[in-house]
Amino acid sequence: RDRVVAATFDGHAATRDGVAVDLVANVADPAEARAAAAAGARGVGLFRTEFCFLGRGEEPGIDEQVAAYRAVLSQFPGQRVVVRTLDAGADKPLRFLTPDHEDNPALGVRGLRTAVAHPDVLDRQLDAIARAAAAETAEVWVMAPMVATVDEARDFAAACEAHGLHQPGVMIETPAAALQARHVLAEVAFASLGTNDLTQYTMAADRDLAGVAALSTPWQPAVLELVRVACEGGAVHGAPVGVCGEAAADPLLAPVLVGLGVASLSMTPRALAEVADTLARVTRDECTELARLVLDRPTAEAARDAVRTRLLP
Ligand code: PEP
Ligand code: MG
Repeated sequence: RDRVVAATFDGHAATRDGVAVDLVANVADPAEARAAAAAGARGVGLFRTEFCFLGRGEEPGIDEQVAAYRAVLSQFPGQRVVVRTLDAGADKPLRFLTPDHEDNPALGVRGLRTAVAHPDVLDRQLDAIARAAAAETAEVWVMAPMVATVDEARDFAAACEAHGLHQPGVMIETPAAALQARHVLAEVAFASLGTNDLTQYTMAADRDLAGVAALSTPWQPAVLELVRVACEGGAVHGAPVGVCGEAAADPLLAPVLVGLGVASLSMTPRALAEVADTLARVTRDECTELARLVLDRPTAEAARDAVRTRLLP
């Protein structure tokens, strides 16, 4: 790279012509929340709540969960924090929840499916999130991982409502949810694309397996096409669609995602400054043009090269 990148992030990002883009942080525990706030993040687009549950023989009590969630929310007074409900199973097995004998755990009872199998666990977690939200000033949105059907989205929204959590959302991590986005987003207020899993399930390539790493990139045209369809589905309802997978942290991909209709990008805090810097160099129309460019390319490599040529002359 021969360009100078801003070392700091002041919490705001916009295209060169002044269209604001919501750049927020992914956090997985209170220490990361503190680091994200220190890095200038003014909100959280993905709070992974598994830290409270991982490595445990049994479910943490509601009071313990409330304290854990408050420790994160308190870092973002008056700002939005998107709390993801428990994403157990597959790469995040939990002793007291995850079934023992699944041949294909990534295709098994994971994410929201765990909550369908154990509705009481989701109920207690939503209770804890609602209590933590009531005790802090952060604006809490709640979303479910690994949603594949409209029925799941509807049931999750009802469960949230029952706890007074009025901004239910879903992660779009399956091709099914992306293709059905216009129906899914009739049931919930927002969606966030989990591009790590969306890539895994689109390309049928294990996200943690080095041998298939060449397939596992969000630059794959099939993945980007699903991002486009998901954003289109959100637009039908005026519902924001964000990205919270690793794709959001790729400075070359960020303007493409904006061009595809993504409203917010949530990422590891250390990527915020560079992504903001790249967005400030392009106009909204140029983002749209970049999106058109990648959708037209037949391979991931060609898509990346096309954007690199435009942005890094
Ligand atoms: C994703 O799948 O892109 C995502 C953000 O969730 P996780 O990495 O926690 O599965
Ligand atoms: Mg995921």
